Parts: sequence; structure tokens; C-alpha cells
Amino acid sequence: MKRLFSGIQPSGELHLGNYLGAVSNWVKLQESYHSFICIVDYHAITQSYDRKDMRTRVLHMAADLMACGIDPERSVLFVQSRVPEHTELCWIFNAVAQYGDLSRMTQFKDKAARQAENINVGLFDYPVLQSADILLYKAQVVPVGEDQVQHVEFTRRIARGFNRRWGKLFPEPDALLSSTPRLLGLDGQAKMSKSMGNTIVLATPEKQIRKQLSRAATDPARVKREDPGDPDNCNVFTLHKFFSNEERLGWVRDGCTSAGIGCVDCKRALADSMLDQLSDYRRRREELLAEPEKVERILAEGAERASAVARQTMEQVRDKLGLWR
Ligand code: ATP
Ligand code: MG
Repeated sequence: MKRLFSGIQPSGELHLGNYLGAVSNWVKLQESYHSFICIVDYHAITQSYDRKDMRTRVLHMAADLMACGIDPERSVLFVQSRVPEHTELCWIFNAVAQYGDLSRMTQFKDKAARQAENINVGLFDYPVLQSADILLYKAQVVPVGEDQVQHVEFTRRIARGFNRRWGKLFPEPDALLSSTPRLLGLDGQAKMSKSMGNTIVLATPEKQIRKQLSRAATDPARVKREDPGDPDNCNVFTLHKFFSNEERLGWVRDGCTSAGIGCVDCKRALADSMLDQLSDYRRRREELLAEPEKVERILAEGAERASAVARQTMEQVRDKLGLWR
């Protein structure tokens, strides 16, 4: 079985962009790949956060992922900071990573601009730690959203650089995109991101989801109710494509292009489809959060399984480098 790695930051609650862009793919692919799914808390500390929230965020993320369908029997589900080899390999990759490459990373530039008061070196080094996350497990496939493709390409360069300097050890992994690789936020402007506060959180109570959706931006060219709209230029329709059945999709497409329905009707139908599709997730999430010890036990077991692979890779790395034994 080929190996797969992907991660998610506990930098906020799981949102629709994460789900459509990455998590739904992890659930599908765990059937055919040896999957490592990591809650990357060492990445999350490069942004500001309240220390008293961190444990809850990790717990919620683990429950969310399992409620979405990540099966801890199939996927190794674990927390990054419980496997210290991630940061150890990061240091070695720091001796391969090129300053010029890192300074061209779009995510670094975006986040640095947004947190100008705290442009820490960790934020700059983020793609190197991410390369270590992936290559520690010699993953060949990395299912991510579009914003992460540049980092996976960087990881390929790291693997190539390491192999050239110290001898072949790592594969060059491929990014794998879903059919919704870049979901826009509620404003219809920027990518939906935990750190931007423009998200629809999966676990939000029904009433609030309806309210949030009612404010979501639609086709900007449809100004008045009687204007026909273009579903292919509408973030709300992108969501319909994921959550609504063929019949409802047809109803939205016809109604929108003929101005037969308004954006309010369309959003109401979306909320119905979404809440219906997410009902199992909501129930499972409640159940898991009612038993936090069980979730903690699963994460501990995951860390053990990940560690077994990580330790082996690090032995090989130290050997390749000719370090003291
Ligand atoms: P942050 O704002 O803290 O970076 P985030 O919302 O971008 O959080 P991450 O934990 O960085 O979430 O990313 C987890 C996964 O979800 C990654 O594979 C990422 O590419 C994907 N992803 C994040 N946002 C979106 C989006 N709007 N559309 C599609 N995929 C997304
Ligand atoms: Mg992100």
C-alpha cells in the first residue's frame, strides 16, 4: 500500500473549506492508502493563540475528523507534538532548505502581512517542518487544498536535495486536490481560513448556520432579485454542488439563470441540504465529545503507531548523514 500523509492545524474549528478541500478526500483515500493524519499543533503555535484553548482545540479537531469519517483503525490519527521526530527531521531539512525558496512562499507572505507584529522564524520555516511531517513517513501522496500545493512542491525539492547530498532515502510526494480545492469565505473574496474568521464551522448549531449562510456572498453580478445569476460564478452554488442532489442542483441552476428564484431561496435550500448531509457527522461528534478519554486514547495509540515509523526513518537519516553512533 502506498503511504499518504496530511495534516490540519488546531488553529480553530474545522470548517467547510477544510472539509471539501481536504478531509473528505482523506476519508475516501484511507481505503486505498496507508494513511497518516496529523493534527499539527507545532505549526499552529506560529500564529497567536490562547494557551488555555489548545487542548480543547486538539480534542475537537480529533472528534471532528473521526465524526467526518476518519477511521482510526485504517488511518493513523495523531498529534504532531507527541512525535518529536517531526522537529528533529525539520532541523536536518533546514540544512537543505534554501532561503530563496522559503522567501517566495505565498502563505508566508500572506500570513506575515496579516500578523506584522509577530513574523516569527517558525512562520518562515513552516514549509520545512511540513516537509519533515510528510517525509518522515515517506508519504507518496499528500491530499491538500490548493493553498498547500506550493508547500508540497517545496517538499519535493527537499527530498531531491537530501537524496542528492546524502543518498537516496525519500520519495518525491505528489499533491492531490479534491474537486473543491479552494473554497472562498463567506465574503466571497478570500480563501475560507480558520485564521481569517470568514468560515462556516461544521459544528455550528443549525440556527446559526442558517444565519451565516444567509449572509454569504453570491454572484456579484446579480444585484437585484430580477437579475438572472451565474451559478458558475457563485460560492453558494459551489457548496450546493457538494451537498445537494441532482434534482435540487437542477432547480437551483434553472431558477438562478432565469431569475425564477432569488438568492434567499437558494441559500435556504442549501442550508437544508447541508444540515441533512451533516446530520450523521453532528451525531457522531456529540457522541465522541461525550467520551473525551476515548478520543485521547485513540490519539495516544496513533502517536505510538506513528512513532514506530518515525524512529525508523530517523535512524536511517542519522546513518545517511554519518552522525555519531
Ligand atoms: P489557518 O488559517 O490557520 O491556516 P486553514 O483554514 O487554512 O487554517 P489548515 O489547517 O491550514 O486550515 O489546512 C488544513 C487543510 O485544509 C489543508 O490541506 C488546506 O489546504 C485545506 N484548506 C484550508 N482552507 C481551504 C479552503 N478554503 N478550500 C479548500 N481547502 C482548504
Ligand atoms: Mg492554512
